[in-house]
Amino acid sequence: MKKARVATIWLDGCSGCHMSFLDMDERLVELSEYMDVVYSPYVDQKEFPSDVDLTIVEGALSTDHDIEMIKKIRKNSKKILALGDCAVTGNISAMKNLFGTEAVMQKAYFDLVDHNESGKYPQEIVPTLLDKVIPLNEAVDIDYFVPGCPTPADAIYEVLKAVLEGKEINISELTRFGK
Ligand code: SF4
Repeated sequence: MKKARVATIWLDGCSGCHMSFLDMDERLVELSEYMDVVYSPYVDQKEFPSDVDLTIVEGALSTDHDIEMIKKIRKNSKKILALGDCAVTGNISAMKNLFGTEAVMQKAYFDLVDHNESGKYPQEIVPTLLDKVIPLNEAVDIDYFVPGCPTPADAIYEVLKAVLEGKEINISELTRFGK
């Protein structure tokens, strides 16, 4: 059987959902019979590949770089799985929307630091923040939504196995928002 080419990426997330992925422990060995991880924070691959079967995306979209990446991922992936509440709804990442970009930048680069020598926000070495943090499906079509904060490892395993085997699965029996 041909192995599925699987990518994982975190955008505006805390990496907790990727830690949960690793919590599948020895079941990762079992899954490696069915998939090759071709791009991920877990592997040393710099460029997002062009022919991915499934991309698992953690995190919301909060910068121009996130938007660029999710569009590239959509173009290069047959299926996209939104992993975790940030990817599905915005969740913690979208709390910035309560205050606005200007107030958040002021807090991060002036109020919470002892001294900002430049007297201005960094503009050349960091991506530009969007006015509003959005979940993945507000930018591109998403094939699977798997909530949880973080999504439990057992749920990731069951969903991934079903997707790789082309079987249907009731995700609401495995995880829920905030779990
Ligand atoms: S859903 Fe929770 S654990 Fe996952 S990236 Fe967001 S804050 Fe982190």
